[in-house]
Amino acid sequence: RSKTQPAHAPHAFAATDEREARNRIRLASELQTAVANQELLFHYQPQVDLSTGDLVGAEALLRWNHGAFGLQPPNRFIGIAEETGALLEIGAWGLRTLAAYAARVNRKRRSPVRFSLNVSVMEFMQRDMAAFAHRVLDETGCRPEWLTLELTENLMIPEPQNIRRAFEDLRRLGIGISIDDFGTGYSNLRYLESFPLNEIKVDRSFVHDVAHSVAKRVIVESVVKLGAALDIRVVAEGIETEAERAIMRALGCSVGQGYLFGAPLDELHFGKLLDEGLVLREAWDARRLLTM
Ligand code: C2E
Ligand code: MG
Ligand code: MG
Ligand code: MG
Repeated sequence: RSKTQPAHAPHAFAATDEREARNRIRLASELQTAVANQELLFHYQPQVDLSTGDLVGAEALLRWNHGAFGLQPPNRFIGIAEETGALLEIGAWGLRTLAAYAARVNRKRRSPVRFSLNVSVMEFMQRDMAAFAHRVLDETGCRPEWLTLELTENLMIPEPQNIRRAFEDLRRLGIGISIDDFGTGYSNLRYLESFPLNEIKVDRSFVHDVAHSVAKRVIVESVVKLGAALDIRVVAEGIETEAERAIMRALGCSVGQGYLFGAPLDELHFGKLLDEGLVLREAWDARRLLTM
């Protein structure tokens, strides 16, 4: 054993690993009942038209209100839910909940808000999404054009032709299809060729600091060009500063999402934002004046 290595270090490490493993097992088992116990909820993050500042949509982002650990972000439990299969029930709950919410919100609005749901590759592989979505639309009175499904993937798509068929069925239904975190991981150009898409979400890493990177600007510009040629809406995610908004807009992104416009909000606060759309508008106009 080296002198610089404290004698207890390996032991402490093992203890942390063990605690971590125990936590995962605990979360995995508690996830099985999270839906039934009504511990899951969505936060909603606004999406705005980058030319007008109008609220045009919102992304539903999953949260787990865990009895002992408090509100948990998805990266704490989605992976576990995927491994145990609990994500199938969670995903079904999610689509039902979001469709019901979209119907409730849009029934009383003049210009409807489009709601996006994150759906993992595993769900597309294991469920007939179009048949299920059809049923959910019937049950809730949600219109298909109010919903967009974002393919969020952390794994390579094992059978692209199955996903493609699901996408085609969903498009025929009128539900939007989006590719999340475009340009990272497995989410690549091939998708534009293989899948019928309505939307691409340019990953946050291309938006962050775009003012100081020629390469990022050129990449975003090319994605926008591809989108325009293929009739695919391009959404910029993770816009945090006015400079990022201005550049993404100048590069041709039509819609943006990020802390600049609003963090993910609980239903109460998102409801207020919907009712007082003015709040967003005023902030927007103030920003416009500043940059003129
Ligand atoms: P995502 O779909 O790419 O969602 C965007 C994430 O970036 C969200 O984190 C959001 O809070 C965060 N974000 C938004 N604006 C900004 C910004 O301006 N700056 C920065 N730094 N971050 C921003 P969140 O809510 O923790 O979600 C993480 C991921 O979890 C999502 O990434 C998505 O892949 C997954 N996820 C969320 N909800 C669901 C769900 O219902 N089902 C599935 N399968 N996955 C979900
Ligand atoms: Mg997403
Ligand atoms: Mg994303
Ligand atoms: Mg992302």
